[in-house]
Amino acid sequence: MIQFPFDNRYAALGDDFYERTRPAPVREPELFAFNDALARDLGISASDVAVSGAAVFSGNTVPQGAEPLAMAYAGHQFGHFNPQLGDGRALLLGEIVSPDGARYDLHLKGSGRTRFSRDGDGRAALGPVLREYLVSEAMHRLHVPTTRALAAVTTGEPVARERLLPGGVITRVASSFVRVGTFQYFAAREDEQAVRQLADYVIDKCYPQLDEHSNRYAALLAAVVERQALLIARWMQLGFIHGVMNTDNMSIAGETIDYGPCAFMDAYRHDQVFSSIDRQGRYAYGNQPSIGLWNLTRLAEALLPLFDANPQTAVRVAQEVLEGFVAHYESAWLKGMREKCGLTACNGGESSEDRVLIEALLEVMAENRADFTLTFFHLSRLPDQPSAQDENLLALFQHPEQMATWLQQWRTRLKHETQDDAARQAGMQSVNPVYIPRNHQIEAAIRAAEDQDDFSVFHELHTVLQQPFVQQEGKEKYALAPEPEEVVEYTFCGT
Ligand code: AMP
Ligand code: MG
Repeated sequence: MIQFPFDNRYAALGDDFYERTRPAPVREPELFAFNDALARDLGISASDVAVSGAAVFSGNTVPQGAEPLAMAYAGHQFGHFNPQLGDGRALLLGEIVSPDGARYDLHLKGSGRTRFSRDGDGRAALGPVLREYLVSEAMHRLHVPTTRALAAVTTGEPVARERLLPGGVITRVASSFVRVGTFQYFAAREDEQAVRQLADYVIDKCYPQLDEHSNRYAALLAAVVERQALLIARWMQLGFIHGVMNTDNMSIAGETIDYGPCAFMDAYRHDQVFSSIDRQGRYAYGNQPSIGLWNLTRLAEALLPLFDANPQTAVRVAQEVLEGFVAHYESAWLKGMREKCGLTACNGGESSEDRVLIEALLEVMAENRADFTLTFFHLSRLPDQPSAQDENLLALFQHPEQMATWLQQWRTRLKHETQDDAARQAGMQSVNPVYIPRNHQIEAAIRAAEDQDDFSVFHELHTVLQQPFVQQEGKEKYALAPEPEEVVEYTFCGT
């Protein structure tokens, strides 16, 4: 049997925090993906995964030491507060301690109804399971903090959505599945004691360095603010759109969490939206930083009584901490974008001039609907002098002369670089991916699995995405933008 190094602490917080629930068995589980490397890192001994993996990762067998429970949480969904959400189709199996001493949560998603399911069936369709597996593992390889995918199974049971679809269960791993909405749940009930207990739990688990801090709860908010600012800057630098940045989908550990109708952009647009449920464009690409701050302000409100007994002082503390978000975000964004453009020299006011240059690039890209990833891919391969290769980049632009003008400005700026040109190109290539999980490729993997029971497309795409910065022979098609007829306009959460 697969052995997990469980050491459960969330369960010890008390009944108010969750509902103990066993996964609902499925008819005919089959394991089609298992992340050996992650299992090893986590200290999971899985030598017989071929035998027992399907039972364990479908929830049919609850492994030894697991204490499955559905976590309670609330959340602002598209700006409206819902005091009662919670794991409606997911379960915390338990917490594990990896060989290096780090603690992780193990979660099943699609494991059946819970007390928090409302009208939902507690199940997940295979398509969203495949998308989450592919995108979360790609994000990890792209150096974006994220939940990981440990395993995925088909259930052998259909789930009813717009039509009947094959069902799946994904096992995912996070530093914590506590969300901003978990704090809101107790704050809405004016249960200050529970908010404090939860904050202490999170500090112990995710931010142990804050334990001795003189105002540990303000320090917790500050740490979450910083991690979220850095996280969202990473999303922006890769053209990633989360799609449903509700406060219940925002992790207290600063990881990308709850992959639903998420997507990477092909053509660059600041106001790009993919999610079919985001009709107002609240969670459009360009809104993500400000929504991040909005969500963190909701977290600050929930933590307020912990900052100071005097409400006015508490508000002042919260405001000061929240003000840090913009500074963290702006500096992380600029640092990453400068790296993407090969701009490292930093003498005098160069940074703010670089910002103007970078914003001009984004403007030209937007006006020309240039492919986000391919623009930086080709830029990373250009020498500091005009060359025949410029054509590869210019071909992405409807008005190449606009980009040619920008290239001139960029090359003028490169004269200030002290590194040699080969080093500059290598640096750029190490941060600008060749491969991202493009929607049309994910869609192709889902179609093959759903319609033909063929998982080879999924596995090939997953393998390519394990080395996103390395050009792989024979895998050129995965770097390409979609043909007009392949473009995916919307993604669905599939709930
Ligand atoms: P999401 O925005 O997808 O993260 O989900 C929002 C809320 O709806 C969470 O409380 C989920 O647990 C719940 N939910 C989503 N899909 C289902 C489902 N199929 N069955 C039960 N609950 C669900
Ligand atoms: Mg969610």
